[in-house]
Formats: sequence, C-alpha cells, structure tokens
Amino acid sequence: KLENATLKAELGRATWKFLHTMVARFPDKPSESDRKTLESFFYLFARLYPCGDCARHFGEMLKRYPPQTSSRNVAAGWLCAVHNMVNKRLGKPQFDCTKIGDFYDCGCGDDEKHKGE
Ligand code: FAD
Repeated sequence: KLENATLKAELGRATWKFLHTMVARFPDKPSESDRKTLESFFYLFARLYPCGDCARHFGEMLKRYPPQTSSRNVAAGWLCAVHNMVNKRLGKPQFDCTKIGDFYDCGCGDDEKHKGE
C-alpha cells in the first residue's frame, strides 16, 4: 500500500500528545513497580507502534537512550529529548524542554493523590 504522509503525521501528533500527557501524570516519586511499568510500556510501544519505520527507529533510540523513570520530571525530560531527536531527523524545530511544565494537561480534573493508581 502507498504511504499516506498526512495520516502518518496525524497518527504521530496524536501519539506524541498521548505519550507526553501520560508522562506528565507519572508520579513525582514513583515506586519500583511504577518505574518498571513505564519502562516496559515504552519497549512494548516500540514493538507495536503501527508505523513500522517509525517503530524501528524508535526501538534503535531506546537501545541508545533507555527510558528514564526515576521521577516525573526526569521521565518528561527524557521523552522530550527523544521527541527532539525524531524532530531533528525529520528536519523539524527543536522544542524547548525547559518549557514543558504544564504544556500537557490531561484535563482529567481528578485529584493528584490518585495519580498513578
Ligand atoms: P509532532 O512532532 O507530531 O509534535 C506535535 C506537537 O508536540 C508539536 O506541535 C509541539 O507542540 C509538541 N512538541 C514538539 N516537539 C516536542 C518535544 N520534543 N517534546 C514535547 N512536545 C513537543 N514520522 C516520520 O515521518 N518518520 C518517522 O520515523 C517517525 N517516527 C516517529 C516515531 C514515534 C515514536 C512517533 C510517535 C512519531 C513518529 N513520526 C515519524 C511522526 C512524527 O514524529 C510527527 O508526529 C509527524 O511528522 C507530525 O509532526 P508535527 O510537526 O505535527 O509535530
């Protein structure tokens, strides 16, 4: 089947939005189990992402830059850096990772203390 760049980009945008929003809700002080879960998520994600080429590149990146899961900030910084590497490869502008703060709000409205449960 022919590549459809519009659909590929749309999937990418939706996925990045989901990934950054998910990590923005990762606990500040994750348990070992939280950390293992996030790490496993990214390895499974790299196996299952529907754009085969993207998934292969992402898998290669994970080998060099394994998921960083010691805190929410660290995880968000890692994902931002990894997304920037993809941006670079695609000739897109770099995102300022120091400004990631409240950029990704899940809009869930539920209280913080249940996060990660
Ligand atoms: P996107 O890169 O989709 O970003 C969406 C929005 O996120 C931006 O508008 C900006 O507001 C914000 N943003 C940008 N950079 C960052 C950052 N570093 N941290 C946080 N937020 C940021 N496409 C290909 O053609 N080839 C590939 O190999 C490829 N690999 C991919 C691998 C993965 C894991 C994913 C999720 C997507 C991949 N894509 C790939 C799709 C590609 O990354 C883009 O999603 C797509 O090209 C649309 O780009 P965009 O300019 O709309 O912005």
